[in-house]
Amino acid sequence: MVALDGPSGTGKTTVARKLAATLGAGYLDTGAMYRLVTLAVLRAGIDPQDPGAVAALASEVEVGVGTDPARPRAQLGGQEVGEEIRTEPVNAAVSAVSAVPEVREILVAGQRRIIAHVLDTVGGIVVDGRDIGTVVAPDAPLKVFLTASPEVRAARRSAQDSAAGRKSTTAAARASVERRDELDSTRTASPMRPAGDAVVFDTSDLNIEQVLVALSELASQRGLLGGEFAEACR
Ligand code: C5P
Repeated sequence: MVALDGPSGTGKTTVARKLAATLGAGYLDTGAMYRLVTLAVLRAGIDPQDPGAVAALASEVEVGVGTDPARPRAQLGGQEVGEEIRTEPVNAAVSAVSAVPEVREILVAGQRRIIAHVLDTVGGIVVDGRDIGTVVAPDAPLKVFLTASPEVRAARRSAQDSAAGRKSTTAAARASVERRDELDSTRTASPMRPAGDAVVFDTSDLNIEQVLVALSELASQRGLLGGEFAEACR
């Protein structure tokens, strides 16, 4: 298993999916799970800043994510909402929702179940998040924490939004990612930070392919390639 953590705009999700495909492994986007609960909160008209109401809703919603790196899937109550969970209202509310300890308990339990199932069936998994190396899977044989400068992260996030047809400027993207990072890294429950034994990797001056090559090399050094992958993951 590979734990891939870090803030938004580091290339984490793209790299995680490509790395999973390269390794023949499954892929889990834990951010999508927090985004799904947030979308449910917004749809229900609940105030994201009301932890009691958010926790109560989180215990009822049916959150579905796919684990095939070629076909990411995000479902709420059986309905595909992959695009809606990337919109600005969700970006603006997700850090408040993910700071609620009960929400984290429910989703971390679900993540551990998915990871165990994929390890059993596929043999390996790349998991993308903020607390994978520290909380969800502290025994992962490879933990990577990706970083990049705020300028680079804002530019990447803005380019991604534009490519997906969402309105965006670099200044607005920078304000949005910085606000989210501040909330994610200062919350009491599982704040975003590198695990003590994580490889911290700055992607500011690298493109996706270069990051992928570097991570594949790390995976290879840890014996996580090819047929050895399944063994090393257990
Ligand atoms: O990775 P992504 O940007 O989609 O994550 C959205 C939000 O979900 C993060 O800003 C963070 O608040 C929350 N998150 C989290 N723990 C994770 C993954 C995401 O708190 N493991």
